[in-house]
Amino acid sequence: MNKGLLIVLSGPSGVGKGTVCSVLRHKQSDLVYSVSATTRSPRQGEIDGINYFFKTREQFQDMIARDALLEHAEYVGNYYGTPRDFVERTLASGKDVILEIEVQGALKVKEKFPEGVFIFLLPPSLDVLKQRIVGRGTENAEVIDHRMTVAEQEMSLIRYYDYAVVNDEIDAACHRIQSIITAEHCRKDRF
Ligand code: 5GP
Repeated sequence: MNKGLLIVLSGPSGVGKGTVCSVLRHKQSDLVYSVSATTRSPRQGEIDGINYFFKTREQFQDMIARDALLEHAEYVGNYYGTPRDFVERTLASGKDVILEIEVQGALKVKEKFPEGVFIFLLPPSLDVLKQRIVGRGTENAEVIDHRMTVAEQEMSLIRYYDYAVVNDEIDAACHRIQSIITAEHCRKDRF
């Protein structure tokens, strides 16, 4: 049996990775979503174990020390990381796993899983990105400015990815990602 594909969906904060991922999960029920650990506080409506595993800094450090994370990164003052066991077990069982992570973490995954499928989600423009972060209404002005500075740095790392998908419209972006996944399953080296 073939291992599942590790699909890494990355790109700047506010580009719509979360929304694209949740629509994809509905459209493609065989795609398994990896729930990350974070030290960030839950936003309204977020549920522990569904959106994230919410951890204290001590708990997160302990996960790092136990090598329980496939990758982790500090992003705008909080830690985020991918639990290793779940991803490895799911891939071994032949199912595809999708990680929705920021750019530093994606590059670390690439070192360990060069065979992964790395997709960079792009905003139609930086102005649209800022409008989306502001419109979300979950961050204050300082955090928004910080996220925009990080976003510009992140965009320069697109060269390390296999695919670039513009998120101009959610359904269209999901359709492009589904086409990428189908094509990756048909690669001749998987047979
Ligand atoms: P947010 O605080 O908006 O939920 O997430 C901030 C950023 O962290 C987003 O770009 C999100 O994709 C990223 N992120 C979420 N989980 C992980 C993870 O496990 N590892 C890394 N490196 N980034 C993550």
